[in-house]
Order: sequence, then structure tokens, then C-alpha cells
Amino acid sequence: METMIRDVINRFVRESPDNRFPDSGEPYFDEPLVGFAAAGNPLFVDYQRIIGGFHRTPQEILAGAQTVITWALPVTRATRESNRREDRWPSREWSLTRNNGENFNSALRRHLVAWLEGDGHKAVAPQLEPGWRQLDDPAAGIASTWSERHAAYAAGLGTFSLNDALITARGIAHRLGSVITDLVLSPTPRTAPDFRHNCLWFREGTCGACIGRCPVGALSRQGHDKTRCRAYVYGAVPGAVGKRYGVAQTGCGLCQTRVPCEAMVPPGRKPMGNGAW
Ligand code: SF4
Ligand code: SF4
Repeated sequence: METMIRDVINRFVRESPDNRFPDSGEPYFDEPLVGFAAAGNPLFVDYQRIIGGFHRTPQEILAGAQTVITWALPVTRATRESNRREDRWPSREWSLTRNNGENFNSALRRHLVAWLEGDGHKAVAPQLEPGWRQLDDPAAGIASTWSERHAAYAAGLGTFSLNDALITARGIAHRLGSVITDLVLSPTPRTAPDFRHNCLWFREGTCGACIGRCPVGALSRQGHDKTRCRAYVYGAVPGAVGKRYGVAQTGCGLCQTRVPCEAMVPPGRKPMGNGAW
């Protein structure tokens, strides 16, 4: 059944016309990474302490939840290369991927829910549920009631980074998604030795390339200033290039391109150990 679910996701990414730039017909995303987490994984309860009590467990979203299906949609090389050349605003390709590509990601969520329901299972895409919301929490800062990144971490797709993203086997430039179901699937093992292993800064105290890529100083050795980042990504950038690109959401992604973790787990200087991705 796990293989069948992967096939459903892969085929939709490969064949959906929504995964295409309107002008060139090239895809927004390459073949996805897919992982499964047990809905009862204690991590989901831990997240209510780590992120905040507002973060919901799979069972709170879907009664009888058994599995969280997650995926990472890697941004194509051509789009990553276009963003590598930028220093101030994201490239047009990057912004279209953020806006239209995320619309496709939501279509994928709905497609998988419909497929599972058609096969007789309950299924919910947490980010499309009416109860999903973003909030500015006094302790956690800007957060949401369901974190696709944390779901993907629980499902073994990657580990966290200095710039608050998730570094997967295909790197950091991607969009994430998830669906909760009452179907029992074998969990994907989390093989990384710790939750920040794939980031060179945390693994061996080197790199920091993303710090220099941020045009507004939202990154430092102390981490990610979410408030400053958000003001830029949701305010300044759409104001500057959104109309020209014809999109409402532009993203930024400068700290996810022209960096060693852009499209892989960076090898670094020291051996990566058994958990190497
Ligand atoms: S650029 Fe370097 S320090 Fe920044 S997230 Fe990637 S590996 Fe970590
Ligand atoms: S997304 Fe842009 S503004 Fe936010 S930390 Fe990365 S480079 Fe800086």
C-alpha cells in the first residue's frame, strides 16, 4: 500500500497540468520525496510543548488517525539557478513556483484525500482544514496550528536548519505537504542522528552561507528572525515585484539558493555517520 500511495503522488506530480509554468510548460517541481509517520508518534505530542499548545495532533484533526503522509516537492534546477543569480528580490520563476506551485501543492493535497476516500479511508489535509490558522504567538513567534515541516521531520524526510527550514535528501528548496488518514502504513525510519544534523552549522559549526544570502539581516549565528523575514517575504517583496510577476505570493528563497544545502545534504568536512542522507 505504501508503494501505491507513492505512485498516486508521483503520478499526479508528473502528469498534472497544474505542475507547469504557464508559458514554458516546464514543471514547477521534480519527483517528490514521500514519507510516512505514525499518527501516534510521540513527537506530535512533543510539538505541543516545543511549538505551542495551539499545535494540533493528528488525532485532534482526524478521529481515528493512524498515519501522516508527507511529501517534499523539490524545486527544479532551472528555477533554483534563476534564484541563485538574485541578491535582492526572488526571480520570477521562484515566485511563480511559490504562488502557482503552492496552488498545485494544495491540488495534490485534495487529490490524495479524494483518492484515499475513494478507497474507503478517512483522510484530511490539515492545512486545508477550516481549523488551520497562522498566529503570532508571544512565545513561539509566527507559527501555525499544523506545521508541514514538523510533520515531514516526523516522517523522516529531513532535519531542521539554521534558517528554520528542512534539509531533505533533495535539499532545502522545496514545498512540503501532508495528509492525515486512518489507513495504517509503515512509518518511514528517521535515520538522521539528531534533528538538525543535515545543516552544516549545527553538524560541524561551519557554513553559515544562508546568513550572507539574506538581504534584510534576518539570519545570524543565533538563528532566524521570523518577524523580520516575514515582513520582507509577505510585505516588501510582493510590493516590489508581485505585480510585475503577476502573483500575490512571491516567496523569497534567497537563503535556499546559492547555498551548499540547496539541492542535497551538504557533505561538509566531517563524516556524516550512519544517518547520512
Ligand atoms: S546554508 Fe549552511 S548553515 Fe545555512 S541552512 Fe544550509 S547548511 Fe545550514
Ligand atoms: S526567506 Fe528571505 S528574508 Fe527570510 S531569512 Fe531567507 S533570505 Fe532572509
